[in-house]
Amino acid sequence: MKKVYFDYSATTPVKNEVLEYIKDYFNVIYGNPSSTHSFGVQAKNAIVNARSIIAKCINASANEIYFTSGGTESDNWALKGVAEAYKDKGNHIITTSIEHPAVLNTAKKLEKMGYNVTYLDVDEYGLINIEDLKKSIKDNTILVSIMFINNEIGTIQDIESIGNICREKNIVFHSDAVQAFSNIAIDVKKLPVDLLSISSHKFYGLKGTGVLFIKNGIKIASLIDGGSQEKTKRAGTENVVGILAMAKAAQLACDNLEQHIEKLTELREYTLNRIMNEIDEVKYNGHPQFRHPANLHFSFKAMNSTALLIALDSLGIAVSAGSACSSGSLKASHVLKSIGVEDEYALGSIRISMGDYTTKSDCDYLVESLKKVCQKNTKR
Ligand SMILES: *Cc1c(COP(=O)(O)O)cnc(C)c1O
Repeated sequence: MKKVYFDYSATTPVKNEVLEYIKDYFNVIYGNPSSTHSFGVQAKNAIVNARSIIAKCINASANEIYFTSGGTESDNWALKGVAEAYKDKGNHIITTSIEHPAVLNTAKKLEKMGYNVTYLDVDEYGLINIEDLKKSIKDNTILVSIMFINNEIGTIQDIESIGNICREKNIVFHSDAVQAFSNIAIDVKKLPVDLLSISSHKFYGLKGTGVLFIKNGIKIASLIDGGSQEKTKRAGTENVVGILAMAKAAQLACDNLEQHIEKLTELREYTLNRIMNEIDEVKYNGHPQFRHPANLHFSFKAMNSTALLIALDSLGIAVSAGSACSSGSLKASHVLKSIGVEDEYALGSIRISMGDYTTKSDCDYLVESLKKVCQKNTKR
């Protein structure tokens, strides 16, 4: 059976170039980067190089790149670390209702610890209202955390305008850029952001490695204490292979960014047009223009997300459900609720995310399969 992967926003395969690049670091160059002997020095040098490769990708300085265990840790660290470091200044944090759980549940934890959190609403496309942001800023606001690209519906926020407001008011601005890095150009010298979360397995690196970009001058408390790694701000022996894989994958992504965006946008629009023309009672979610180049998100009337997912899986197609079963009944995702998709549609939603190995014939197979499964046994 044909097997086709349309879930690149969940995770990506590791590229062969990446595997090749790291292979000696398992059992040839295996020293601890903190060791003084040559084994250690070699590993340390490799990490120094990796840090500068990643820094260059977003036009940061190498000393602004901190290695973490992934997007979730980076988000936790950004929110908890800034909240702690700036607690003398205030206890108010602003975020949105459509963040990834790594931000949303961290914000909820901070609420329990005594911080006040404002969750900004979004419009039907998933964009926050800049005036709402301005109005919600108070004298005790210490942090704004707003995601760059939404992982479900693919909407790209106006990070520049948001950041400019934060700069004006002297408020720290963090953005979860896990879906953005490798899918949109990011230049931290031009973009007014103070912290960015990045995750390697979303751009063909290994799972369990990420970055928190922390602009020089921004205060942050550590999340993990121990040895002196990452300037004592993030202790623990470095995940050497993970870091090197991430650097290689980042370099490939940054070197090919324009072609990547162009190719995927074309496939996305081709698939979108076919689905809208050939399938009835379907809603396209997210912003038509300000959108992740490889994200499509649809709601099918009176369908069941889980049934759709399983029916497609039986044809060898991997997509992601836009709603999930919780305690036996289907519930629309928090993002679809926030953009106001009515349950009639929301409960039958899927996310289709493409990547560097997606072909036009994969997209044709997807559309033909969707047409088949929409005609039978997926109705609620
Ligand atoms: C995948 C993802 C995360 C979590 O990253 P992990 O490395 O899997 O912990 C956070 N935010 C967004 C937007 C994501 O897509």
